[in-house]
Parts: sequence; structure tokens; C-alpha cells
Amino acid sequence: MPTSAELFEQACRHIPGGVNSPVRAFKGMDRPPLFMERAQGAYLFDVEGKRYIDYVGSWGPMITGHADPEVLGAVRERLDAGLSFGTPTAIETTMADRICEIMPSIEMVRMVNSGTEATMSAIRLARGYTGRDKIVKFEGNYHGHSDSLLVKAGSGALTHGEPSSPGVPASLAEHTITLPYNDAEAVRACFDELGDAIAGIIVEPVAGNMNCIPPRPGFLETLREVCDAHASVLIFDEVMTGFRVALGGAQAHYAITPDLTCLGKIVGGGMPVGAFGGKREIMEYISPLGPVYQAGTLAGNPLAMAAGIALLDKIRQPGFHADLARRVEMLCDGLESRAAEAGVDLITQRAGGMFGVFFTGQRRVDDFAQAGACDVERFRRFFTAMLDHGVYLAPSPFEAGFMSSAHGDADIHATLDAAERVFAAMAR
Ligand code: PMP
Repeated sequence: MPTSAELFEQACRHIPGGVNSPVRAFKGMDRPPLFMERAQGAYLFDVEGKRYIDYVGSWGPMITGHADPEVLGAVRERLDAGLSFGTPTAIETTMADRICEIMPSIEMVRMVNSGTEATMSAIRLARGYTGRDKIVKFEGNYHGHSDSLLVKAGSGALTHGEPSSPGVPASLAEHTITLPYNDAEAVRACFDELGDAIAGIIVEPVAGNMNCIPPRPGFLETLREVCDAHASVLIFDEVMTGFRVALGGAQAHYAITPDLTCLGKIVGGGMPVGAFGGKREIMEYISPLGPVYQAGTLAGNPLAMAAGIALLDKIRQPGFHADLARRVEMLCDGLESRAAEAGVDLITQRAGGMFGVFFTGQRRVDDFAQAGACDVERFRRFFTAMLDHGVYLAPSPFEAGFMSSAHGDADIHATLDAAERVFAAMAR
């Protein structure tokens, strides 16, 4: 069996950078990426048979752990009926009903194949509905890679030092206004000046693509207020936070009702799925009811729906999210205390089932500038050493961590033991 390094070399021959999504390349981490063979529960197993406790969870969907038997069972059950029909199927209605039950701000929902499609379509809808071109986004928020949104973006774009991409026409990017995250005053000033030309605001209600940055009290409230005052559309990008920060997403956790919501990751149970939905009046602008065009050959794919519904049904059990948050607390409290004991400057930030680790002497990190000021070299050493100890973290200081219900106390203790050894070595 070839090693990860050998497989990476082979992959690089015909795949740009050897990967199908840039952040997988471990850029800046001084080692080639690991090639995984399989996954089960809280663990990934690489091609060399080594086991890792995984805090990436396929970047979010695996909230009940990998290869969840109920999710796999639901897919298996559908499999023999055929992969795709290009016609309506009843299971799409079941999915739409589930989403609308769980997130009451969503009165109608359209399924797509990725988070990128969800946000791209929501932006088009907001523009079509309001008849305005300008949108507001926040520095370091990532909403996928559609042209209008790849301006001062986070995640891989940030990791690779290219928050804005060549190939996005300046004439399009000029309609994207970028403001500092968590800066309510900047939002007010922007709307005072341009409010009536702004189609909408898109925001990660907890930022998860510049590490993990929860909203400051009043920030989301301000967004709701200015959108109401100027008849602009408030779009929550809950691709990451949906069904994770709380069952009903960040909008439930912070009690703010957006006009539109974008979903992805968990809603597909690990299959390629996204969704966008919201107020009926706005959603009725979508084709074929309305004039704003949006479509997808494989959208609402029955296998993907089966996986997503099985996962949503599982995480609707009472206490699921409280228990997930308890695991995050246990991990984050443990990391902070062990770092403090070793004399390593580190803080954590949390929101339900997601968290972030920052190497900084600051007490909190609220925006892109502060996230960028953290010690990237320390993070690199931490990441690499944790990997050697069998703990798989996101290979970038600008990504959030994801907990699953498959992470037992023993896994978390093992992670903390590894971190203790790594911090001791870092402090030397
Ligand atoms: N929005 C957010 C908040 C995301 O975190 C991501 C992906 N990490 C996306 C949109 C894009 O989703 P996808 O990668 O499925 O296109």
C-alpha cells in the first residue's frame, strides 16, 4: 500500500495541487496531507493504518461521527431504487418539511448541491427581489467561491493568503461592500450612506472560517435593525452553524430571525447538499413561481435526501446539542488549563458544537484583524505535533473545530493528554 506522501505525489500529476479543495493540501504546515482510507465514529484511519481522533468531521457534516449506521442504512435502503430521476420525488418534500419544522424562519426551501450554490442563489434572490445590486459581507467570512462573495473571504482563501481572487471582475466585486465583523457601528454608517441601494447583508452568524468567532452582543441585532429600516434582505449563512450551534442554528441560539438562510454540511449527512430558504414572499420570487432563475440537475438527489433526513432525525433527540456543547466545554477548558500550566498563551472560543483555538495573549478575538494577529507559527507546531500524537485538527489557524457526539470522554482525555505533551515541548 503506498504511503500518503507517495499518493500525494501521484495526485499532483493530474490534480492541481493534488487536491480537489485547497485547504486539504496542508499548505504552510510543512508536510504533505494525509490520505484517509476510512472513518468510523470519532476516528479517521489513514492509508498507513494509523488512527486519528478527528476534529474536522468532513468540515462539519459528521456531527454524530463518521459512518453513522443510521445514515448509512438510510442510503442503503434507497440505493436499489436508483440514483437520480430528474423528476420530483416524495423524499424531497420530507426534507423540506423537516427543515421548515426545525427552522421556523424558513417557510419555503430549495435544495442545491453545495453551500456555494446556496449562498450564490440566495444573493441572486435578494438582488432580484429588491431590484438592488449591492450586498454587504464581512471580512473573513467565507460564503463559498461564487464571484460576488469571493471578496475578502475566509477559510481556504485566507489560509492561502488570497482573500480576494483574480478572475472576479472588478465591475462585479464593486457591488460587494466588505465591513469588519462584529462592528455594529460600521454597519450603521454604511447603511446611513448607502442603505437604500443595498440588496442584503450576508453573514456567518458565528464566524467559522477565520477560526471560531461568535457575534458580540448586539451585532446580529444591528443587522436585523438596519435591514428592516432599509427593506434589505438579511441572509444568515448557516452552512456551518445550522443544526450545530443549536438544533435550530445560530438564529435559534441568538434569537434573531433572518429573511433567508443558507444551509449545507449537516443537512446532507455527508453527501453533497446545500439548501436556501426563508420568507415565503421572497422565496416565491424563485423560478418557476417567480422571475429569479435557479436550477440543478441533481438537486434534491434522493440518496442525499435520505442521508440528510436520517441525520436530522437523529440530532433532533432532546439533549443532543446540550451534550455536544458539554463535550466542547470539556475539550476547550482542558486545552486552556493545560496551556496555562505550560505557560503557552492560548485561548479558545466556542459556540455549541464548534470551537476555535487561538495562540494569542489577547482575551478574545472578535474580527479578522485580531484573528490574523495570532501566532501562526505556534499553530503550525501545534497542528503538526498533535497529528504525530494521533489528533487530526483542521490544517489551518483560520478554521473552526467540530465536535461530534461520537467523541467520548476518553477521546477528549486522550486529546488533552496529547496537548499537554505538545504544550510542554512548545514552552521549552
Ligand atoms: N458558507 C459557509 C459558512 C461555509 O463554511 C462554507 C464551506 N465551508 C460554504 C458556505 C461553502 O460551502 P461548500 O464548500 O459546500 O460550497
